[in-house]
Amino acid sequence: MAFTLPPLPYAYDALEPYIDAQTMEIHYTKHHEGYVTKLNDALKAYPDLEKKSIDELLSDLSKLPEAVRMAVRNQGGGHYNHSLFWLMMRHNGGGEPRGAIGELIKKNFDTFGAFQKEFNTKAAGVFGSGWAWLCLDPQGNAVVLSTHNQDTPISERHTPLLGLDVWEHAYYLKYQNKRVSYVDAWWHVINWDQVEENFRMATK
Ligand code: MN
Repeated sequence: MAFTLPPLPYAYDALEPYIDAQTMEIHYTKHHEGYVTKLNDALKAYPDLEKKSIDELLSDLSKLPEAVRMAVRNQGGGHYNHSLFWLMMRHNGGGEPRGAIGELIKKNFDTFGAFQKEFNTKAAGVFGSGWAWLCLDPQGNAVVLSTHNQDTPISERHTPLLGLDVWEHAYYLKYQNKRVSYVDAWWHVINWDQVEENFRMATK
């Protein structure tokens, strides 16, 4: 087994009332676990690929054999994105970031409010399933972008700092079709310490 489900660093109900325990449990034990299982199934015939890190596999999809490219993109992307996503949230999170990430946001978006507005617009604008991201572009600027399905910013040479899953499976039980309410709630659980750490790792 090349890839494994990483431990969830908090209880399923830790993000209540913003993200409900049932959604967290299903999302982690069914959806994320499913991506891991299907990725491992797809790579069984490729022992050389099984040895690589998920970052390596996703950072240049064109290098992969065509027969597994789509599976790595979808299942591998799902594994990678969710592994980041759990860490980017915490109990008693939210607020405005300080530190280097706070400065970066002010440099590239002028104000935290302007960044938040742009991020919300991107998250609301994803047609169907996907993600909204705060990333570093190849020049080191902070940018907001969205990806479809389980596509990841690292496949486009962008480093994710913060990401939000806007697949319906991430919010439908509590928020039904009201994605905007889910996005508004999610700002209360962001783990800015982790975002700061992601920025530090990306720029060291
Ligand atoms: Mn998801």
